[in-house]
Amino acid sequence: MSNGAYRLYHLIAQLVVLGDGPISYRERGLAGRCNQTVPAFRKNLRELIDADLVIVESGQVSITPTRAVTAWGREHIPAALREAVLTRDKHTCVYCGDTDCPLEMDHVIPVSRGGLNTERNLVASCGRCNREKGARLVEEWI
Ligand SMILES: [Zn+2]
Repeated sequence: MSNGAYRLYHLIAQLVVLGDGPISYRERGLAGRCNQTVPAFRKNLRELIDADLVIVESGQVSITPTRAVTAWGREHIPAALREAVLTRDKHTCVYCGDTDCPLEMDHVIPVSRGGLNTERNLVASCGRCNREKGARLVEEWI
């Protein structure tokens, strides 16, 4: 992947993740935000679409969920997002109620099934519950 396409992908992934969904396709705005000219932006976006990393439809840009995982990664849950989830869940494991342990982010819809790093899809979980649940939905686990 070219450097420009890589930068653009990370910008789009970040906006989609923080905004909890697809973003509107405004090429000048997006190009400006990654310091690319509109023609360079179009070329980079085309590269991302061809690589099946980004989807553009009905005036909206999104990232391909299953591909997003490898490129964006579960390690890349932004600190602000993590903090928001922990505050919402009162720093408590949502599964066993444990508070006295380091908490991790569990994906309600597992990453392997296309679950994204969004506030709606993340809950606070202790390490034990997180590993026991693994790549299952809550219904399949409990
Ligand atoms: Zn737990």
